[in-house]
Amino acid sequence: MYDRKSMKADDFINHDEIMKTLEYAEANKDNRALIESIIEKAKKRKGLEHRDAAVLLDCTLPDLNEEIFRLANEIKNDFYGNRIVMFAPLYLSNYCVNGCVYCPYHAKNKHIPRKKLTQEEIRNEVIALMDMGHKRLALETGEDPVNCPIDYVLESIKTVYSVKHKNGEIRRVNVNIAATTVENYRKLKEAGIGTYILFQETYNKESYLKLHPTGPKHDYDWHTEAMDRAMEGGIDDVGCGVLFGLELYRYEFTGLLMHAEHLEAVHGVGPHTISVPRIRRADDIDPAAFDNGIDDDTFAKIVACIRIAVPYTGMIMSTRESQETRERVLHLGISQISGGSKTSVGGYAEKEEEDSSQFEVSDTRTLDEVVNWLIGMGYTPSFCTACYREGRTGDRFMALCKSEQIHNCCLPNALMTLKEYLIDYASPETRKAGEEMIAREVETIPNENAKRIVKERLVRIENGERDFRF
Ligand code: SF4
Ligand code: SF4
Repeated sequence: MYDRKSMKADDFINHDEIMKTLEYAEANKDNRALIESIIEKAKKRKGLEHRDAAVLLDCTLPDLNEEIFRLANEIKNDFYGNRIVMFAPLYLSNYCVNGCVYCPYHAKNKHIPRKKLTQEEIRNEVIALMDMGHKRLALETGEDPVNCPIDYVLESIKTVYSVKHKNGEIRRVNVNIAATTVENYRKLKEAGIGTYILFQETYNKESYLKLHPTGPKHDYDWHTEAMDRAMEGGIDDVGCGVLFGLELYRYEFTGLLMHAEHLEAVHGVGPHTISVPRIRRADDIDPAAFDNGIDDDTFAKIVACIRIAVPYTGMIMSTRESQETRERVLHLGISQISGGSKTSVGGYAEKEEEDSSQFEVSDTRTLDEVVNWLIGMGYTPSFCTACYREGRTGDRFMALCKSEQIHNCCLPNALMTLKEYLIDYASPETRKAGEEMIAREVETIPNENAKRIVKERLVRIENGERDFRF
């Protein structure tokens, strides 16, 4: 039975409730009065429940769809301004005991080179990432208790934080590893991770079991209840996501929102981020083999509806998406993107002889090119990591977001970290464009005192000081 407060996966991601939601959405996809009333509700910027959001996703009325996109854009501007936070993935190991049929790291793939970075190699990767200008990483590993145990992950986190190189340092390490025990989540928390990220892949249990035929990940309940264990282990910020293309997108969208509602109901705080990856080609994986692929129009609609349904949750888009797609959906609600990414183990520091990528990157530009492109479109690239380092995580972070005071932190921090980037890493063209942007944007800081402090600090950054934050 559907119960968002239950700790059982089958209850909080309840198949019957999803099916009823999809029927309801289908029956009301052109119900003008209902859709208008949902849009009015969404304008209060408090989010939407999964049933209402599913109706918006299915809406077939062109003028109301335009309004949905407009509202998503307004909410994005109200909550995140023109800022886009930058990050990069760092693959530590591609050993994996699981059998996920959509991922080339699956255990039966005998020809893909398996690698696990040594601590020295991690240092080299981190230096390469720092030399690009990154401050925020997402660590990625396959699941393998023998080749990639939790102690290795913990040691690697320590190594990442310990590297100092010129003006570079990694200030926030997010971690994307397999579902694990409360005890291990506690260890990750103690190691100082930012967000714990785990994609559900699909919320459809029947499909999930088929797509994960072997290995510990086959256990749907263990996987689906992982975020609860992570929170029990003290991790405040969790990142959810599905792999669009595996199952019907309407089903996934509804499941994702139900998961967010569950976390909010039980822990008082919803997911910190939601990622929206679509399945990509890789080694022995052909995306055409999955017949639930979504086109760009649908993708844009999903992004807009997630933005409206969970305004306080950051939304992440990776280099799986092309420059063109990124341009199309950024303004609809994306708050974080990766740039200059490599999706192979050791891909930043080493010249690759063999391809060990998890998926093909669509956006292959350098970080400098991505930063330049963002600035050219009027977005402010941000390398901010302040909240986590100031202890603003979990419900403290959400409370600040909901009070809308977060604005007084995000914009100043974005400008100061962009300034660091421009001085330390940018090409002359990017620096010029970025300096002009900072000069413009600093004047828009609403609080006069904060504006004065930021201006002073920008001068101090110019003179060599680093790492200011609000
Ligand atoms: S998706 Fe993760 S768990 Fe599955 S095969 Fe790939 S690396 Fe392993
Ligand atoms: S101030 Fe906090 S919410 Fe804003 S960009 Fe920085 S880390 Fe993110």
